[in-house]
Formats: sequence, structure tokens, C-alpha cells
Amino acid sequence: MEVYLTCPSCGAQYPEDEVAWRCRCGCYLDLDFAPRFDPASLEGPECFLRYRSVLPLTFPKKALTFGESFTPLHPMVFYGVPVQAKMDFLLTTGSFKDRGAFLMINKCREMGITRIVEDSSGNSACAMAAYSALAGIEAHIFMPAGNSSAKTVQVRTYGATLHKVPGTRSDCARAAEEAAKNSYYAAHTWNPYFLHGTKTVIYEIMEQSHWQAPDVIIVPVGSGSQFLGIWLGLQEMKRAGVISRYPRLVAVQSEHCAPLKNFMEGQQTPQLPKEPILAEGIAIRQPPRLRQILQAINETGGETVTVTDRQIVDALKASARQGVYIEPTSAAAVAAVEQLKDRLQKEERVVVSLTGHGLKATSRVEKIPDNI
Ligand SMILES: *Cc1c(COP(=O)(O)O)cnc(C)c1O
Ligand SMILES: [Zn+2]
Repeated sequence: MEVYLTCPSCGAQYPEDEVAWRCRCGCYLDLDFAPRFDPASLEGPECFLRYRSVLPLTFPKKALTFGESFTPLHPMVFYGVPVQAKMDFLLTTGSFKDRGAFLMINKCREMGITRIVEDSSGNSACAMAAYSALAGIEAHIFMPAGNSSAKTVQVRTYGATLHKVPGTRSDCARAAEEAAKNSYYAAHTWNPYFLHGTKTVIYEIMEQSHWQAPDVIIVPVGSGSQFLGIWLGLQEMKRAGVISRYPRLVAVQSEHCAPLKNFMEGQQTPQLPKEPILAEGIAIRQPPRLRQILQAINETGGETVTVTDRQIVDALKASARQGVYIEPTSAAAVAAVEQLKDRLQKEERVVVSLTGHGLKATSRVEKIPDNI
């Protein structure tokens, strides 16, 4: 299989073994890979590799996995609205990022890469570290000094090497890019393989829905890796004639970091506040794929919704009171239901993506004022 990395901005192409992580022109790269999907050809257990016919792996049969099974599509009710919650927080490391890490790390194995660099302190670092441990790949995680949480403990325990960089998040990204000159830069914010991994979530949702598309899908968005994976999968399914129209994709951000809304209103996104942000997993000021996210919103008739910390806390409780403990970042998507509910038609089917496990955010949840 010959696959190229292509630049949607200037059209440049790179052979995949060149391991470029962005184009010379500065734009992100996409994969020149358009698989033909046929639901009738699916076979094997309910796991990531069930969708191997649409995954850009050369040797899918040799791929390493934790035997991940489908995550439940569980009925819940938020603000009086019945929804289906996609419980991706139940994956091995506790977040949806396992889907992307699974594909990216297996691709690294195929390319003979033995060392990766990532600059996240959160769930993507956890997922990358765990799948690297599975594959015997050396993982180097760069994170801002002073940043410590359950997630950093998890990363370190998997055996990844932590590099604490003084300064801001951008200083950290620069240090990682420097280190990536002699390792593979596995940033989920840029990497197109990551998106082809996260797209397994929409294939699962569709198969769990007997190939009937939901009407609305609500996703918390930082760099957009799950959002764009869903968009990618939907486009593949439309090309294959499995669906005839797109669900409306709703991108949810926090009031402290809302580059989508800011961009639509022609404003710059302000600096992040000094204190830790409740929805930390979606606090990405300059998502590299911003335009692609806006395009997906446009083409699906979707929208972006911005939620406050107060709404996030209420949503976190609303979910926990139904027995589902998620992290504040995921609760942002639940909070969006309240803002959308007056515009939903009665019969419409709504899916909410529950991206991360609450147990990862105990210290944060504990500090919520007038707590639970
Ligand atoms: C990373 C993350 C997100 C946001 O994902 P992006 O790919 O950055 O848009 C949402 N929720 C949780 C729990 C996350 O870890
Ligand atoms: Zn380019």
C-alpha cells in the first residue's frame, strides 16, 4: 500500500516513511488514503481491528492491541433530553486517546521507529506511553515544569521518560519539536494517523446503531482529534453509500479557551488564565487543524458551543448521579446538551461522547467549590 502525506494548503506530498509531521509551508498534513468501506465485509470480534479494511496499516494482522472491545453506547438523560452516551472513558488508559495511540504506535512499529516524542501532560501522553510500553517503543514526554497530576503519575508508571520544561506550553512544544529532530514527533494535535485511529469511534457508533446515523453528535474539542476522526469516518461512510446525510457535529469548548468561537467572530483567542482550567483536556489555544474543524462544522450543519465552569460542574454531577463518573473535560460535552435542547427536534437521536474517566481528575473534582 503506497500512502502519501499531503498538504491541503500547498499540495506538497511526502512519502510516509519521510516521517514529516508538518508541511514545509507550516500546515498540517493529511493522509492520501481513501479506503472503500463495505459493512458486509466486517468480520472478527468487536474490537479496533474489526475495521482494519479502513485503517492505514500495512500488516493489520500483526498489529498489537490490548484486546479493546466496543465501548458501550449507553442511554442517559441530560436536562430532560434522552441521549446515547458513548463511553470511551472505559478504554485501557481511561480515555478515547487510546484509539489514536493504537494506530499511531502500530504505524511506528511498521516503520521501524523505536523512539517517539510527545508534548502533552494529559490523556494523550497516557495513551502514547501505554501503547509504547506494549510495543517496546521508547516514549519521551515533554511537559511544562510544575505540571503534576494523576495523569503524569500514570505516564511515568508506564515507563515513559518525562522531560519537565520550564516556561509555558509553547516553550514545551518547542523543546519537543527540537527533540523530534531525531525521534518521531507523535503529537496527536498534528498527526493524521491519530485521526484514522480515532475514527474507529464513529464506525462503532454506527454499527451499534445498525448503520443508522444519529442526528447530532456532541464532542468536546481541543485539537479536534476525536471530532475530526468522526468527520473522517463519516466521509468514508458517505462515499461508501452507508449514510446519505451527515449528523450535525457539535464542537464544545470552555469559555476559558474557545478558539473556534473566537475565530468565527474574527477575534484572537486570549491567553489562558494562570490557574488550572477545569476542562484542561480542551484548553488548546491554537489548534493546528482549526480550519478543518470549521469545515466539518460547516459541512454537517453543526455548530460550536461554549460552556462555563458552572455548567461543567452541573453536568459532571448530572452524569455522576446516573452512575457515570467522567472528568470535567468530558462533562463539557454534557453541558452543551442544555444549550442545544430547545433546538432539538423531538425524534432526533443525540450521541454525546464521554471522552475521559473521572478517576483521573480526583484532585480537581475534590477542589470544586460547594462540592457534591
Ligand atoms: C484530549 C481530550 C479531549 C479533546 O481532544 P482533542 O483531540 O484535543 O480535541 C477531550 N476530552 C478528553 C478527556 C481528552 O483527554
Ligand atoms: Zn504545504
